[in-house]
Amino acid sequence: MSTFTKTHRNRVKRHPERGAYDHETVYKILDEALICHVGFAVDNQPFVIPTIHARRGDTLLLHGASTSRLLKHIEAGNPLCVAVTLLDGLVVARSIFNNSMNYRSIVLFGTGHLLDDPEEKYAALHALTERVLPGRWDDARLPNRKELKATSIIAMPIETASAKIRVGPPKDEPEDYALEFWAGIVPITQTFHAPQNDPKLKDNTPVPKYLQGYKRHS
Ligand SMILES: Cc1cc2nc3c(=O)[nH]c(=O)nc-3n(C[C@H](O)[C@H](O)[C@H](O)COP(=O)(O)OP(=O)(O)OC[C@H]3O[C@@H](n4cnc5c(N)ncnc54)[C@H](O)[C@@H]3O)c2cc1C
Repeated sequence: MSTFTKTHRNRVKRHPERGAYDHETVYKILDEALICHVGFAVDNQPFVIPTIHARRGDTLLLHGASTSRLLKHIEAGNPLCVAVTLLDGLVVARSIFNNSMNYRSIVLFGTGHLLDDPEEKYAALHALTERVLPGRWDDARLPNRKELKATSIIAMPIETASAKIRVGPPKDEPEDYALEFWAGIVPITQTFHAPQNDPKLKDNTPVPKYLQGYKRHS
């Protein structure tokens, strides 16, 4: 099993037993999430920007308008830190102090670069589209040259990463288990509802099969 080397950057310090560094665990969380948060610092001011992502092998792909601050930061060769969180439950403990959440989260590190080659950009847009909406690329108008030009694609080889996973019931203080407060888990799942037609939809256009019963793999 291939793993990311633990360094001062990616080592989980608090509850290290919840940390994981193998590619499989990290990438499973990355692939299930619909969005990530990209962190970067400009002139000592941190910014955290939510955005859509895709993974190709050990590379994270992001896209955005060619004018964004994030893209300027990347063009200058500066590092990025990317976080993804999947929430699995509210952990309700007998004490306020021990309330928590069940989650699967990852933090990725790397330095991005812009993909300039139109074919590479096209392939990346395909990956970004199909990851969120599998089947859509062949069922929509494809990007034209102007749209392709207006879109920047960032490729960030994942240098190192960590996962942190909390599962299970609350962890109360030994003496608190005698208390009569309810304690347990409120599970959280993400629900996708039936597709709703665009009011401007041409009459009798059916909902594509790939959108019926849409769900993310877990
Ligand atoms: C939904 C959610 C709620 C949380 N609520 C709290 C809270 O209320 N209070 C609190 O103290 N902590 C909370 N955490 C945990 C928090 O994310 C950190 O793990 C925690 O602050 C301890 O960080 P540290 O001191 O071990 O590491 P830091 O020094 O902060 O980080 C060192 C390295 O460890 C890795 N790392 C740290 N945390 C994570 C993570 N969550 N996922 C993946 N890699 C990680 C990163 O690579 C990071 O660079 C929560 C996490 C999640 C996902």
